[in-house]
Amino acid sequence: MHVPFLIIGGGLSGLAAALRFARFLPDVLILEKHSRVGGLNSYYYRNNRLFETGLHAITNYAPAKTKNAPLNRLLRQLKIKRNELDLHQQIESEVRFLNQEALRFSNDFSLLDAEIAAKFPTSYNRFRQLLQQIEDYDPFRPAPFISAKKILHETLGDKLLVDMLLCPLMYYGSSLENDMDFGQFVIMFRAIFLEGMFRPGGTIKDLLDLLLNHYRDYGGKIRTKAAVSHILYSGKKVIGVELTNGEEIRCDYLLSTIGSEETFALLDKPSPLESLPRLGFVETIFELSPETSLEHSENRTIIFYNSSKTFSYQQPQSLVDFDSGVICMPQNFQDLPPSPFKEVRTTHLASYDQWYNLHDNQSSYNSAKDDTALASREVAEKILGNFAENIVYRDTFTPLTIERFTAKKQGAIYGNPVKIKDGDIGYDNLFLAGTDQGFLGIVGSMLSGVSIVNQHILSRL
Ligand SMILES: Cc1cc2nc3c(=O)[nH]c(=O)nc-3n(C[C@H](O)[C@H](O)[C@H](O)COP(=O)(O)OP(=O)(O)OC[C@H]3O[C@@H](n4cnc5c(N)ncnc54)[C@H](O)[C@@H]3O)c2cc1C
Repeated sequence: MHVPFLIIGGGLSGLAAALRFARFLPDVLILEKHSRVGGLNSYYYRNNRLFETGLHAITNYAPAKTKNAPLNRLLRQLKIKRNELDLHQQIESEVRFLNQEALRFSNDFSLLDAEIAAKFPTSYNRFRQLLQQIEDYDPFRPAPFISAKKILHETLGDKLLVDMLLCPLMYYGSSLENDMDFGQFVIMFRAIFLEGMFRPGGTIKDLLDLLLNHYRDYGGKIRTKAAVSHILYSGKKVIGVELTNGEEIRCDYLLSTIGSEETFALLDKPSPLESLPRLGFVETIFELSPETSLEHSENRTIIFYNSSKTFSYQQPQSLVDFDSGVICMPQNFQDLPPSPFKEVRTTHLASYDQWYNLHDNQSSYNSAKDDTALASREVAEKILGNFAENIVYRDTFTPLTIERFTAKKQGAIYGNPVKIKDGDIGYDNLFLAGTDQGFLGIVGSMLSGVSIVNQHILSRL
């Protein structure tokens, strides 16, 4: 079998890349290892209910009139109308450093601006300078690593404010321990604080179905349960792939969305990239009965919290670091229809190695998951009020779960800390898109797929 354009991975970057290409030529095939698309942002069923694996909120909210905003550019490139998505904006979110300070923010930047003016009055003018730096900076121009932490300390001169600004941006988009490249900081600051967060009206399944339906309407093809075991090549030219069942598929162009090291492994080559620690996370979903009242958070969409003196964003020595994390209430978006259940989702940094040590002892692994859920619930209850008695279902994912279902090395959601921004990994017709190209999250990974297709593939046809 031969196809002009082949894509490994049916996550959001692969789907977006495929849809972009199919608008011009239908000869594209996605190979997805699992029975379902979505990758890190997919869904599963329990008790006849659909659960989302990843969706807290989509960053980069933009009103229709801001034509150049990333979200609107993405929709145009994919020829999807805004009203097909049924966008619901966040109500209000918060960065809360327990016993220290709290900053509220929403999709209206003036809220965060006023919070900083009121709570950090001596740093407010410096914060306005930082905003100017963010506006002036082009994060897409190739540049060596610049420490965002260093720039923030120099500009703001207030450690608490620096940590409070970094906490949400790191949790929603940093693959690096305890720092970010300033370019990535600018991208995430714009995505979360200047633009804001939303979610589609339905579930992630509706979003994935929408993408798949458009793709299939253009004639694009997808095969699920089709895991690639080798990339076939001669010199610098890729010839095709071999699947785990031995089948060969030849292609003119190949796009891999599975990660850089994972792609080198399919080429039977060691990764030439520097090896830095990867960040693992645990996530717990608490499904609550509909009458649950979360007394301290009725209108909060997401709370990024930190309870220790210094905010630390690194792989913990223990299984999980409960000192900081994310608490999301997916029902708290504007004008969402009432859902039959409420949900609280919690995320914390976790150690892949520590979880891996338990992998061949199912009962220890399960009890570590139970302990994690309990500790995470206790942390969340301190902030939200008690909800233990209202829990009707609970599930916890560890870095091992994420690795098992997405083949992402060490279950590291944000992939390799070393990014390949131009998607070029040294082959004439093989490119990398998705997490390891450097755009993170849902909008980021989709834009990554689209931009690699535009830059490297459509331009050559
Ligand atoms: C718990 C959690 C919460 C999250 N919350 C949010 C959020 O609220 N907002 C947000 O914007 N982002 C969130 N994210 C991040 C977001 O999901 C990802 O950044 C994005 O989905 C990455 O997409 P991708 O296509 O780059 O990679 P992936 O989703 O990893 O896609 C790669 C695909 O390749 C497939 N694959 C791997 N190996 C092979 C092979 N050998 N052959 C064939 N197929 C293969 C995998 O099965 C997978 O489907 C979250 C992620 C997680 C896990």
